[in-house]
Amino acid sequence: MKQATLAGVDKRAKLVQEMVDSIFSFAEPGFQEFRTSEYITGILEKNGFKVQRGVAGIPTAWTATWGESGPLIALGSDIDALLGLSQVPGSATIKPQLVGAPGHGEGHNSGMPAVVAAALSVKEVMQKNKIQGRLMLWPGVAEELLATKAFYVRAGLFEGVDASIFTHVSKDLSTSWGPAGNNGMVSVEYTFSGKTAHSAGSPWSGRSALDGVELMNIAWNMRREHLPLTQRSHYVITNGGGQPNVVPGEGTVWYYFRDQTFPAIRELYELGNTISEAAAQATGTTVKRRVLGYAAPNFGNKPIAEAAYENMKAIGMPQWSEDDQAFAKAVQEANGFKVEPLATELAPLSTPDSRDRPMGGGSDDIGDIMWTVPTITIRFPSNIPNTIGHNVTAAMAMATPIAHKGAVTGAKAVALTVLDLMTTPELLASAKDYFNNVQLKDAKYDPVLSAEDQPAVHLNKELMERIRPQMAKFYYDPKKYRTYLEQLGVAYPGVPGASVSPAAGEAP
Ligand SMILES: [Zn+2]
Repeated sequence: MKQATLAGVDKRAKLVQEMVDSIFSFAEPGFQEFRTSEYITGILEKNGFKVQRGVAGIPTAWTATWGESGPLIALGSDIDALLGLSQVPGSATIKPQLVGAPGHGEGHNSGMPAVVAAALSVKEVMQKNKIQGRLMLWPGVAEELLATKAFYVRAGLFEGVDASIFTHVSKDLSTSWGPAGNNGMVSVEYTFSGKTAHSAGSPWSGRSALDGVELMNIAWNMRREHLPLTQRSHYVITNGGGQPNVVPGEGTVWYYFRDQTFPAIRELYELGNTISEAAAQATGTTVKRRVLGYAAPNFGNKPIAEAAYENMKAIGMPQWSEDDQAFAKAVQEANGFKVEPLATELAPLSTPDSRDRPMGGGSDDIGDIMWTVPTITIRFPSNIPNTIGHNVTAAMAMATPIAHKGAVTGAKAVALTVLDLMTTPELLASAKDYFNNVQLKDAKYDPVLSAEDQPAVHLNKELMERIRPQMAKFYYDPKKYRTYLEQLGVAYPGVPGASVSPAAGEAP
């Protein structure tokens, strides 16, 4: 059955390539993944999945389910792009496809193709062999805003799910178990209200909301010195007023507070609230806050990770061509990164003992699901080593054969592990035992979301209304072109700086 499943994934390599390239070309940021979701759910519906759209009150979120009875396995991956990271794929130098447009500088265009190929292959084998079981596919909407998975959990999307496998792009094929040592996070917006006045004529009549914002930031930056080393916090001012001769009546600062444990995240959030109120008091303004997102620290399920790792050993790494390696080298050289070939060896299984001492860092809201049902993340090798995350250099390979092959390999790892979960009741039982008796022994899921907090579905709406018509000109048409690179006239692996046809680099 495993051989048949692997053959099923290989048979779908063309589908994977079309999906990777299409979603890359849609490049929709958080909460605006309308085209992406319509495209993926269309494929799943055609293949016998029942789709429910707009779940958890989020227009671009959905679930796609198949099967009547037996274990319910959830499969997910993120789908959103990042602001301002538009990049011509297959170009080793920085070259926006459309200036100011979002782009897949995190490679979130590759995860769902891997998940869909895995699901279709497993489903085929299950039907043929009359294996009972159910699948539920779901998208990581607005992951870059860490803004949906806690809401999915709160809405009960994972009730009845026996185990879950998440996938994420990487330079390696890998998985891990235990506390990941990354940070959980709360995303919160503080809006100060003051009173407008003529800044020169009667400044004493006004109260500056921008003063509230600035004082909060100053106080936070001083307090930062006295916070645990594991915390990370950062902010942007999204509204600093209109023009200098009007005392700003409204001002907004948006914070991400990160730390490693549920209580530490909550403490940081409460400290932020206190400082915002103190800043308001000092400036004669008032402040309101809105939670825009939350992410729990990550925690991988040991039995499922070990099963997945056995499968990875059997699958091995993609067969990189000379062109793939040449392109990776060109990207690294052109951008001043350490030259390191595409990985050809499976990464070791990551365990609490094998990892460095955790020092915090980024967040991933898969954590919320990891604390709800036994879950692992399978990372697959669709990107180039040493590129910078959340940067255009991480988008360069994401619609090239490197991304396609990596996603096929990821699909295989997911598919075989799903098959294990469907056919091995002992594995499911030990996964649940580990979840209940090891993971939940010392901590439990404790997000700061309140019942009133709503998904921030307004984010990125205006930008996309403005820019979508121009982006649509670059959508991939798989009926006309074998690959997206072909459509754009990009030679692969190309020569840095000379690989792009003028049409592809045009910036309206
Ligand atoms: Zn990501």
